[in-house]
Amino acid sequence: MGKTILVAGAGHGGLAAAADLARKGFDVTVVEQKKEADLGYDWTDIFAPKSLIDAGVPYPSRSLYSYKENMTFFSPDQSVALTQQIPENELEIKMERKDIYAHLIAHAKRCGVQFRFETAVTAPLFLGSRVCGVYAGEEKIYADLVIDACGADSPLRTALPAICGIENSYAEGEMAYVYRAFFERTGDWTPEHNYEVYVLHHGRQEIAWVATEQEYADVLIVHTQPLTEQDVQTALADLRKTNPHIGEKILRGGQFAKIPVRQPLAVMVADGYAALGDSAYMTVPLFGSGIANALKASHILSETVVADKACAFTAETLWPYQTGYFKLLGAGFASLSCAKTAMLHMEPAEVDFLFARGIVTAKEISFSADFTSLQSMIKLSMRETVDRAKKLSTDKILLTKIVRIASQVAAASALCAMLPKTYSSSAVRKWAASYNAFFAKQRKG
Ligand SMILES: Cc1cc2nc3c(=O)[nH]c(=O)nc-3n(C[C@H](O)[C@H](O)[C@H](O)COP(=O)(O)OP(=O)(O)OC[C@H]3O[C@@H](n4cnc5c(N)ncnc54)[C@H](O)[C@@H]3O)c2cc1C
Repeated sequence: MGKTILVAGAGHGGLAAAADLARKGFDVTVVEQKKEADLGYDWTDIFAPKSLIDAGVPYPSRSLYSYKENMTFFSPDQSVALTQQIPENELEIKMERKDIYAHLIAHAKRCGVQFRFETAVTAPLFLGSRVCGVYAGEEKIYADLVIDACGADSPLRTALPAICGIENSYAEGEMAYVYRAFFERTGDWTPEHNYEVYVLHHGRQEIAWVATEQEYADVLIVHTQPLTEQDVQTALADLRKTNPHIGEKILRGGQFAKIPVRQPLAVMVADGYAALGDSAYMTVPLFGSGIANALKASHILSETVVADKACAFTAETLWPYQTGYFKLLGAGFASLSCAKTAMLHMEPAEVDFLFARGIVTAKEISFSADFTSLQSMIKLSMRETVDRAKKLSTDKILLTKIVRIASQVAAASALCAMLPKTYSSSAVRKWAASYNAFFAKQRKG
């Protein structure tokens, strides 16, 4: 074979794709801007463990992970608390991010992947309209295929010319701005629930969680606009009112970060190029989890590459990666993105109503680790649906809003179903234009 594949970015998706492709005989190099020892955040992640198997990665040692606890969701006025009831065999695992990376890197090395750490790619390199490698500063690194796994602000995707037909950047409201820190526990106070999630916390466009461990309280604060230090202090002061065990001392983390919470990239491939993971916006739009999706997508991509017997790696031969991703996850996530945007337009009192009247119950929030769409998240029987509709009908304005959300979700699903099955540049561009226009219109409300 002897074809060279360059994976830019040693995140979850990039590492898994690199390993899979090296194992299948390609000459694969991962180019990562950070030092190996500096990879990842100093905190834990939760993700569906089966996604490792889906990506052809062995399970990590059992001592490296624990199972995630059920979360308790609070209504904005905090009068209702709903606790997930997820069957044990469907729970996600919790693992140190640095351990996940170490595990993926060790696996990739065993598969024959070469690594270049401390090398930042700066731009794509072109031969005509085909991506034929990357620039790393002045240096040109050539490859037959470039896999862009550089994250949401990838310098590759953002620099692709219009001829590639790939969106360069995201719009306002499509990123979640987060702060996370592990605070020292103080006093003897123990919360009733170990893993609390506050929706529209104190009526703000904010989600906050407090996951209480023996030694520390893990606090996450999420906003839809860039977070300031003052926002964090305000949220922390409010969280400490209900969680007095959150001390002042930061033991770990204390960083600001960004997560895409939007529909997947409309076009993920170009000649010589494929976007993967956060650089293709593969996170679940409601929660921002992206590890399992990046892992699953890495396998679809490597299967597509292997199926391209002539190793042409054109937009056309890479297209099954995009259709495969949309079929497995992307279409469902596009619908979830609709639901997320619509929910952001809801008033805290309306969400309180949904919790208080039993329209949202523990059942709706007890989604398994492997859910792929709103439909697979909320599995209501006909009777339950009718019951919820009856309760909802007492608030006509809210009912209208929910019906509107449902129709938008259905429209997004219908649009994704029209994704061209086979590649033609004009058909793909036309479809991408309608997809992007649909979500732009929805953002405007
Ligand atoms: C605070 C926070 C908490 C999260 N928690 C969870 C969670 O619990 N569960 C979950 O499933 N997901 C979580 N996510 C999302 C998850 O981190 C991503 O979806 C996932 O890591 C996607 O992986 P990726 O392959 O796209 O790579 P990324 O993790 O985005 O990594 C990209 C890599 O590319 C490198 N890179 C960037 N630019 C360059 C460059 N110019 N040259 C070379 N290398 C470059 C970066 O250094 C990095 O190593 C969280 C995200 C954040 C920010």
